[in-house]
Amino acid sequence: MSIKLHEHPRPSENDPKRILESVFGYREFRGQQKLVIEHLLSGGDALVLMPTGGGKSLCYQIPAIAQEGVGIVVSPLIALMQDQVSALTELGVAAAFVNSSLSYETARKIEDEMLRGRYDLVYVAPERLTTPGFLTLLERTKLALFAIDEAHCVSQWGHDFRPEYRKLDVLHDRFPGVPRIALTATADEPTRREIIAHLHLGGARRFVSGFDRPNIRYDVVPKKNAKAQALRFIRFRHAGQPGIVYCMSRKKVDDVAAWLRGEGIDALAYHAGLDKTVRQRHQERFLKEEGVVIVGTIAFGLGIDKPDVRFVAHLDLPKSLEAYYQETGRAGRDGLPSEAWMCYGYGDAVLIRQLVERSESSAERKRVEHRKLGALLGYCETAECRRAVMLRYFGEERDEGCGNCDTCLEPVDAYDGTVVAQKALSNVYRTGQMFGAAYLADVLVGAASERVVRNRHDRATTFGIGAELDRAGWMGVYRQLVASGLVDVDPEHGGLRLSERAWPVLKGERALKLRRDRKRLPADEVRPHRTKEEGVADKADRKLFDALRAKRLEIAQARNLPAYVIFHDKTLAEMARNRPRTLAELATISGVGQKKLETYGKAFLDVLRTEGRSPGSDDGVIEDP
Ligand code: ADP
Ligand code: ZN
Repeated sequence: MSIKLHEHPRPSENDPKRILESVFGYREFRGQQKLVIEHLLSGGDALVLMPTGGGKSLCYQIPAIAQEGVGIVVSPLIALMQDQVSALTELGVAAAFVNSSLSYETARKIEDEMLRGRYDLVYVAPERLTTPGFLTLLERTKLALFAIDEAHCVSQWGHDFRPEYRKLDVLHDRFPGVPRIALTATADEPTRREIIAHLHLGGARRFVSGFDRPNIRYDVVPKKNAKAQALRFIRFRHAGQPGIVYCMSRKKVDDVAAWLRGEGIDALAYHAGLDKTVRQRHQERFLKEEGVVIVGTIAFGLGIDKPDVRFVAHLDLPKSLEAYYQETGRAGRDGLPSEAWMCYGYGDAVLIRQLVERSESSAERKRVEHRKLGALLGYCETAECRRAVMLRYFGEERDEGCGNCDTCLEPVDAYDGTVVAQKALSNVYRTGQMFGAAYLADVLVGAASERVVRNRHDRATTFGIGAELDRAGWMGVYRQLVASGLVDVDPEHGGLRLSERAWPVLKGERALKLRRDRKRLPADEVRPHRTKEEGVADKADRKLFDALRAKRLEIAQARNLPAYVIFHDKTLAEMARNRPRTLAELATISGVGQKKLETYGKAFLDVLRTEGRSPGSDDGVIEDP
């Protein structure tokens, strides 16, 4: 293969596949990328729904590079723009951003250069784009396309509503001849309709990919001591790797972060209550260093495009299943194996039901909230494949288990729990519908605690009728009854009472399936399996991989860039396995484009030469690819 160094692609080389190879260093288009790119190049509009990590950016970056004129990218978050622009610059693509973080002079200078055709891509905040001044400037500029990223921000009902996005319909009116592409990873059918309506994309072709993130392993563990469980999870399964831990409150974030630090994990807190400079420093360290764990409230992660996040751990429940999908979606954008781990127990189910009860929403709104909550708790409680439950929620049916979630890997026992549920429910009724699960479990197992005796419940008809389960077993049953809405939770003191839905079960009209909670921890929680992650299983390869990573970090720090902007883990792993010896061989590795070959090729070849074949290496084996 011939490699042209020091040469920019000429117009004849502006074929999308050539750009994919020479600029990005990738061999094949992924999913629908090729179709989308061709559609845009032929002048059509597009609506692209692709999961996180699916490769949305290439869909507009390649046509913008291939064509004359600049591609204007609307992006809602400043941090994202900066990230994308530094990544493109590293690839040798002329790109810039214009937003409020720039001084007036700098912004003017960039706009001026844009007018003169210096850029392939310019990222703009929506409020800037829709100013009369910028629109006039665009009318004088040669344009390749408009890309509207995170297009679900037009939706008033979504969690990321941005009013300025509504004004983007102006693009259709003022630039009817310029192709537009709207992209998002989250859009149910109503949101899709909103995007089409508000952005005037009625004539756009839709490209819809599934929601599945096959490289993410889903795992829900019964909560015992959340902090200790999280520590074991990180230590044994993700030591030294970047990850995100989510907690519900700021106080808990601070507490968990401090505790993990005390246990030797490089954990940093992130929430809105922290000083802005502290917050920025923590985010910066997370992006630029290799193994930082961020402990944050759900506010953290928006605008974080770090591709090598290896795990997302929830110590508290997310707000909804959509939110969970989004938050866990921040793991594994690079396509490498990653984990979405959640610790869940009785207290979580009770707390979240109470929150909805307490809210001041209208009755209709509350119904919606209860339904969403039901879906989330259904996910936590399922004995089915977690992925199947999640995807069904987004309207995708699948028949088989995924083989990559805890319930697939270690099937849970689901049994006919009708009689057990009847005992638990009548116990709620007989004790006056005011107690929590711990108390109720005591009554069922016949534990005459001081409180039980004081309330004379040692004489209740349900006292001691529950010998088939132990106390923890009954707690698990009550958790499931709360989760499925058969009992309601008192918004103030948390006591349980029967809901309408309890009666058919009590009367024996409806059967109920329950899951038997696992007693022991999943074997995986205590067994390290890190070597599989980057696809570097061989010991000698692993050593080389670590050396390549060290080189990458050294370069990244010298240039004040996140390490993944230099090369992704996936690329380094392939180098470690294939051990290229020349620039030409290095160029065949996925993720090594022309510019990176020029800039970093030699440095990495040096590592491959010295580390890859040192005779004194303790492993002794050097495999030929
Ligand atoms: P999204 O915006 O959909 O979340 P990105 O555009 O950030 O996803 O792409 C996710 C990752 O996949 C990036 O690291 C990107 O470089 C990589 N990628 C995209 N397309 C390809 C491809 N055709 N071959 C290999 N890697 C790709
Ligand atoms: Zn599964």
